[in-house]
Amino acid sequence: MRDLASARIVAAMQTGGPFYKQLWFQTLVSIVIGAALGIATDGKSAEWFGWMGKLFVRLLKMVIVPLILTSIVTGVASVGTGKTLGRLGAKTLAYYLATSLAAILTGLVLVNALRPGVGADLVDTQGADLPELTTMGSVSEIFEKMIPTNPIAAMASGDMLAIIFFAILLGVGIAHLPSGRDRTLRDLFEQGFDLMMLLTSGIIRLLPLGVLGLISTAVAKSGAGTLQAVGVYAITIVAGLAIHMLVTLPLFLFLLGRMSPLRHYRNMAEAMITAFSTSSSSATLPVTIRSVRERVGVSNQVTSFVLPMGATINMDGTALYECVGAIFIAQVLGVELTFAQQATVVLTALLASIGAAGIPSAGLVMIFLVTEAVNLKGAEVATIVGIMLAVDRPLDMLRTMVNITSDSVGAAIIAKSEGESEVNAA
Ligand code: ASP
Repeated sequence: MRDLASARIVAAMQTGGPFYKQLWFQTLVSIVIGAALGIATDGKSAEWFGWMGKLFVRLLKMVIVPLILTSIVTGVASVGTGKTLGRLGAKTLAYYLATSLAAILTGLVLVNALRPGVGADLVDTQGADLPELTTMGSVSEIFEKMIPTNPIAAMASGDMLAIIFFAILLGVGIAHLPSGRDRTLRDLFEQGFDLMMLLTSGIIRLLPLGVLGLISTAVAKSGAGTLQAVGVYAITIVAGLAIHMLVTLPLFLFLLGRMSPLRHYRNMAEAMITAFSTSSSSATLPVTIRSVRERVGVSNQVTSFVLPMGATINMDGTALYECVGAIFIAQVLGVELTFAQQATVVLTALLASIGAAGIPSAGLVMIFLVTEAVNLKGAEVATIVGIMLAVDRPLDMLRTMVNITSDSVGAAIIAKSEGESEVNAA
């Protein structure tokens, strides 16, 4: 019965036929048209098409909370008790850590080699007209917020870490219920998950329209003039993200999973485009889960375990960004960071990426956590971050794409290591 339902979902999703009828191709065309229109009309097109992007993101967000809850509960409950849960958990965390650190170190090397902030006179010249910034809490606050005092309230406010924590406990609890007493609950969550995936599939059909709206708006919002002023900074980040996306993650895929990176990336195209257009790992999560399940071919169990947590915790692109951004700020201010301070940046960049929510520009705000750890504080830091915010959109689009790609690579590698041989098969 369950297999039948899943098969129907897959069938409904596969849009065969010539390339111009494929969703990814139509969406790419949308990106080009959206960008061209945005530039040609000097951002006016955002007024015409912006609403389509907004509606699309709202639809995606609508399914996130029930999707995360049902997906994690199903995944954890099906892993069962004790040993397997521990093994999957350990593999997942090890993967998150390894790739995030690899990304940070790539950023560290690049920012020290290119030195984008040295000589950049940002503080005096561009102090006016800054967007408002809110600083994020401390490291202990991140951990504290993981335990919801009221799970319903956490769900109502979309508090991801808290929902994940609660869902894991529910899953473990169901796995420990005496046999026979767990059937209804398992069915409820499993079928709820299938239902959310079905809704997601419908929403994804709107991808080309949503992307047209999102890209028009993004073009209108990104300050091209400011981008020139901080050009080397932007180049450093783009180069770092490119190395991580095109060298590091493919190496992980190939060396640890013996899989073709090209095939994996092709399977993930829709999710990557969605991440690029929405700048939000959370909003992309429904698409990521669908692509990893239906195209990459990872089991429900591993998908449900690795992806929802990954969307919040495992952010390689953001981690790289935190490191480059913080050291860039130090360079602009003329502060030479010692080795120990750079090590602190690496560590706090990792924490900041874990704590950053999967929403647009969340990573930028978390940068205060990193700068404060090395004692860079005050109005000047806020001014530089304000300027960084003015050019954040395109960088955010790219790092979000890297974030969700890393999650998908992790899911594929872990599935392979669990003996799922059809993953990324031809
Ligand atoms: N927008 C990113 C994401 O959702 C987070 C960030 O700002 O770095 O993955």
